[in-house]
Amino acid sequence: MSAIKTQLVVLGSGPGGYSAAFRAADLGLDVTLVERYSSLGGVCLNVGCIPSKALLHVAEVINESHHASNLGLSFGPVQHDLDKVRTYKDSVVSKLVSGVHAMAKGRKVRVVEGYGKFVSDHQLAVVKGDETTLIDFDNAIIAAGSRSVKLPFIPEDPRIFDSTGALELRSVPPRLLVIGGGIIGLEMATVYEALGSKVTVVEFADQLVPAADKDLVAVYSKYNKDKFEVLLSTKVEAVSAKPEAIEVAFSGANAPAEPRQFDAVLVAVGRVPNGKLIDAEKAGVNVDERGFIAVNPYLQTNVPHIYAIGDIIGQPMLAHKATHEGHAAAEGVAGHPHAFDPMAIPSIAYTNPEIAWVGLTEKEAKQQGLDYKTAVFPWAASGRAIAADRSEGKTKLIYDAKTDRLLGAGLVGVHAGELLGELTLALEFGASVEDIALTIHAHPTLHESVGLAAELGAGTIT
Ligand code: FAD
Repeated sequence: MSAIKTQLVVLGSGPGGYSAAFRAADLGLDVTLVERYSSLGGVCLNVGCIPSKALLHVAEVINESHHASNLGLSFGPVQHDLDKVRTYKDSVVSKLVSGVHAMAKGRKVRVVEGYGKFVSDHQLAVVKGDETTLIDFDNAIIAAGSRSVKLPFIPEDPRIFDSTGALELRSVPPRLLVIGGGIIGLEMATVYEALGSKVTVVEFADQLVPAADKDLVAVYSKYNKDKFEVLLSTKVEAVSAKPEAIEVAFSGANAPAEPRQFDAVLVAVGRVPNGKLIDAEKAGVNVDERGFIAVNPYLQTNVPHIYAIGDIIGQPMLAHKATHEGHAAAEGVAGHPHAFDPMAIPSIAYTNPEIAWVGLTEKEAKQQGLDYKTAVFPWAASGRAIAADRSEGKTKLIYDAKTDRLLGAGLVGVHAGELLGELTLALEFGASVEDIALTIHAHPTLHESVGLAAELGAGTIT
């Protein structure tokens, strides 16, 4: 057994953990970063945000080629070499992961590889094989993230996998069932459909991407109606792994009457925090029955020198939320406490077309009984969208009926996620639709649709 003394131990090296570790080191602390895997970067870099976006880029190139005939061009049918696609995806991941390793080294952050569990409120034991390292810490930041939810009735079978398995891209199954029509399920459906799978998406709720507004999702669904089969308000009742195929029985108003056969099944029904797997109780840290750790606005747990950040503290489970929490927690540990209190956290489904929203959705504004208005600019009137042969999108602003202040925004369309930055900033700055309308947007751009929606709201165009 070896022993280390450190001012700050960070448990988990995802976007929350590495951001916290680097900020704390920049502020002069002696930092130890504990990660069970040899590769830093957490879910996001290794099996989440980054590999999925690399594969979605591949899908985008394939989908663009399908538009060629509308533009007077023709290419031969797209052929792919799965080994090379996988190599491309892995190279994207390894570039970013090696960047994180270099940043840790550059800041003299001590990295300890192994599985960490609390022993007391000032000690963490890290086990790797037969080796245990005992870390004595003054402060800790828990950034141990989350894992995919497993459905208890689904058997173990190599043809049934979660998002991590889907990102391995072992094969392109002719018939793929995606259980869960949220962001992760639809992003993977987009990749596999583009590569040639016939994809069925089953969703328990009555719309895909249930967190987004229905009118935005309707645009996405219409665009994809011939690409995927979608079973809404449908529950998966039973899954059996037969030698010839995976057989799945459904129930619900739109459910197929008979069980259906698939070559592979992706289970993407959400993520569960890792709070119950780190012996937090030995440090006196409260963990709720689902595995989440409650924190105050300074990201301190009920044990003030132990902080928690990222997926493990709750929704939205997004990398950029984890990063900002990591910075705030590190500053708290270094004696410069600042509360994590954002006006808005953007959400993006990197699908085709993309669905993006920030601040209140219209659904939430309605549920909260707010006196709000909406202004919607259809991309059918956007020069840039028409020129790109992708005019199905729309931009929607939700704003206070009396003060004109922006409450939220939602977009659907190609690159919709890239347009969200301006609206997130507008929300942080408390902008009104008039402020946005008076901001000159370049012509012809997709972000011009934001300015034009605001002009509709401000009444300067009709
Ligand atoms: P994580 O990234 O989960 O990292 C936690 C780390 O802690 C892991 O490396 C884990 O190995 C380590 N760990 C856990 N327990 C221990 C232990 N006891 N000892 C040692 N190490 C431990 N978010 C976005 O914002 N944009 C996206 O486009 C996006 N795409 C996604 C796509 C997929 C397929 C998935 C699965 C997720 C995606 N997410 C996306 C979500 C994003 O990955 C998470 O919100 C983010 O990674 C959370 O960061 P974190 O620091 O809280 O934890």
